[in-house]
Amino acid sequence: MGKKNKMKCMYCGRTFFEGQGVTIVIGGETFRFHSKKCALEFFRRLMERIPPESALPAAKSLARELEEAIKKKEELSAKKF
Ligand SMILES: [Zn+2]
Repeated sequence: MGKKNKMKCMYCGRTFFEGQGVTIVIGGETFRFHSKKCALEFFRRLMERIPPESALPAAKSLARELEEAIKKKEELSAKKF
């Protein structure tokens, strides 16, 4: 065993070293993926299992938050000119 632990991608099974890849923590449980693509695919399939009545309000509130952050950024850069 080397210094770094070997991890296994939960989506495709590829092995990678700790510190690389993408780690997602949900409710204290850790999910590890070797690439962003695998993490995204996992999320896509996870979302299919979450009822829209739960997922939609959360998605809408996040979208609103991001929209406001973008607006603020745009206002700040507009002030520079
Ligand atoms: Zn993978």
